[in-house]
Amino acid sequence: MVLDDLGSSLRGALDDLRGKSRIDEEDVDAVVKEIQRSLLQADVDVDLVMDLSDRIKSRALDEEPPAGTSARDWVLRIVYEELVELVGESTELPLESQTIMLAGLYGSGKTTTAAKMAWWFSTKGLRPAIIQTDTDRPGAYDQAEQMAERAEVDFYGDPDEDDPVTIAREGLEETRTADVRIVDTAGRDGLNEELIEQIERIEREVNPDRNLLVLDAAMGQSAKSQAADFQEAIGIDGVVITKLDGTAKGGGALAAVDETDSTIAFLGTGETVQDIERFEPSGFISRLLG
Ligand code: GDP
Repeated sequence: MVLDDLGSSLRGALDDLRGKSRIDEEDVDAVVKEIQRSLLQADVDVDLVMDLSDRIKSRALDEEPPAGTSARDWVLRIVYEELVELVGESTELPLESQTIMLAGLYGSGKTTTAAKMAWWFSTKGLRPAIIQTDTDRPGAYDQAEQMAERAEVDFYGDPDEDDPVTIAREGLEETRTADVRIVDTAGRDGLNEELIEQIERIEREVNPDRNLLVLDAAMGQSAKSQAADFQEAIGIDGVVITKLDGTAKGGGALAAVDETDSTIAFLGTGETVQDIERFEPSGFISRLLG
């Protein structure tokens, strides 16, 4: 990681260590304070920030830096390693046949993400298909169909069928020649028993290889409880953070990652099908701190 990726005040605090051979508690506190400020501003859960702070402090003060490493480089290395530990590695997505189910609240960006992911897999030489099972939201079918067209991928949905499980079953049958099947599901304004029960039924029918939870970057503290509910219902293997092209930095999603013991798979950075990035720790860290 280069120092330029860090926010300017954190860079300043680290620069104060320049030329020092030993690090004292005050120096580390100054660095940790800057990290805390940035992460809390980026909506990272307070407990996660406090754990990270403790780990940075104890490592910086207790561990011996390798010979020839300056105090500044040593602290920078610890900070970076611990931040990578916090945000995690990218969710593993083998480039092979698989079924992925998307879950999330209404408006989180599931339908858009389904098309983006399908487009992404198509750029890797695989043949994707989208199965739209959202029978609740008026317009979900048309939106998904249009986006699938823009992504130039196969699509299955049935605007005349009102049972999502039937659509899922028929969709899997109809798209059997595809390599990667992406199943979009209905959201709700909040998680209720009906949604949980429905998504559990779809999950049993589809038997996906992976369930991804789609979260709006602006989702703050409620990401954690939402993730816990989805985790209990279907199990979450990875998170997609959408709308990172806005002002929100997506730190709230880290609580969901922690809660589900999962990782981040993709980042959504706009409204078109190409606006998707594979998650990668250092870029996300710069975004959080910048
Ligand atoms: P769903 O209800 O979870 O299926 O959400 P949609 O996919 O319909 O997305 C809700 C709204 O958010 C739509 O207007 C999308 O265009 C928009 N949206 C989704 N992802 C992104 C993103 O990464 N950036 C921006 N700016 N808008 C997005």
